[in-house]
Order: sequence, then structure tokens, then C-alpha cells
Amino acid sequence: MVRVILLGAPGAGKGTQADAIEDKYGYKQISTGDLIRAEVSAKTEIGLKVKAIMEKGELVSDDIVIELLKNRLKQDDTVGGYIMDGFPRNRHQAEELSRMEADREVVIYLEVNEDVVIQRLLSRLTCSVCGAIFNLLSDTPKQAGKCDECGGTLIQRADDNEETIRNRIRVYKEQTQPVIDYYLEKGHEGSFHQIDASKPVDVIFAEIEGALR
Ligand code: AMP
Repeated sequence: MVRVILLGAPGAGKGTQADAIEDKYGYKQISTGDLIRAEVSAKTEIGLKVKAIMEKGELVSDDIVIELLKNRLKQDDTVGGYIMDGFPRNRHQAEELSRMEADREVVIYLEVNEDVVIQRLLSRLTCSVCGAIFNLLSDTPKQAGKCDECGGTLIQRADDNEETIRNRIRVYKEQTQPVIDYYLEKGHEGSFHQIDASKPVDVIFAEIEGALR
């Protein structure tokens, strides 16, 4: 079973590339952000607890996220392989993930500068039904406000506003960037791939295909 780990700042393109990898290779995309958003919209006990934290752009506690992830991995659609999108977000989560079995682990770091991600996130639209991602500047939906894939309504995520975006980037620098060193120290050189994520989506995907070979 293959585990692909996508690292990179908010807006680096992890969700977009995870979608493309899932389509081509059949590995299942697992976004911890989506798992948490599902709890928030279902107003579960966990959802009510984490809503405000998420809206501020802070990290939800490790215990909660790890439990959501472990439950998700119990479903058998991940046995052929899965893609981690948004996890690990700190060193402790990375250590926890290493304890979960995988035959092969490929780490892909989507590297992009801060100005690019702020622009991307401010113009991002997400389908409220299937989670597909669009962008008002570079990847406009065919029909305004409607998802090309499922016809669902496109929304701006509650945390895609400038203040929260800046906080998410700060949190990323402080807590998530050290995860890159974790994988380098762990001896992941052979399966650690840094990709310039300011390039067009299909160019980045071609480089990911090279990394997955
Ligand atoms: P994302 O959809 O990956 O941008 O995540 C949206 C928000 O969900 C983040 O800003 C955090 O509040 C929360 N979140 C997602 N993944 C994690 C994680 N691995 N650890 C802690 N919080 C997370």
C-alpha cells in the first residue's frame, strides 16, 4: 500500500493535485480539513468544539485530528493506497503517521511563495457538495457559481478571508514547516521530492507522476 504525503502551505495546490492523483492512480485522497469540515457542518460534538479554532486558522488539537484520521483509514477504500492532504501539520502528527503502516511512502513538497498563496486563496471557490476546487483567476467554472463536476453551489470557505489566511500562513511557518526537516532527517531523501508549485497545475502534476514512478 502506497502512502503519498503532500506537504506545502495553504494554497500550494495540495487539494488540486490530490484530486488528480486520485483520478489517475486510484489512491484515495484524505484531507483532514475535509474531515473536520464534515464534523462542523454535521454539528457533532467534535464539530462544535473545533469550529471557532478552524475559522481562526489555528490548528485543531492533535488528539482530535488523529482520531478522525484513524477512523477514516479503517474504511477499506484506502487499502490500495492513499494521499495525505493537510496531514501531518506538525512534528507530533508526523511521528504518529510514521507509526501507521505503509509499504511505500512518497513525500511531495509543493513549494510556493507567500504572495502567490494569498492571491490563490482569496480567489478560490470550493464546491459545497463534492469539494472540487476552482479559482476565479485561473480556473473559472463554466457556469458562474456552479460546480463543473456535480452542479453543486460554489462557496468561499469561511477561512479563505485575508485575516485568517495570514494566520494560517503564520501557523504553517511555525508548526508545519518543521515537518519538512522531519522527513529529511528521517532519511526520506529517496522519496522526498520538492516541486515548484508556482507552475501551472498540469506541469506540477507531470512532476508528481515522475516522483510516483
Ligand atoms: P485545510 O483544508 O487543510 O486547509 O485545513 C483547514 C483547517 O482545518 C486548518 O486551518 C486547521 O484549522 C484544520 N486542520 C486541517 N488539518 C489539520 C491537521 N492535520 N491538524 C490540525 N488542524 C488541521
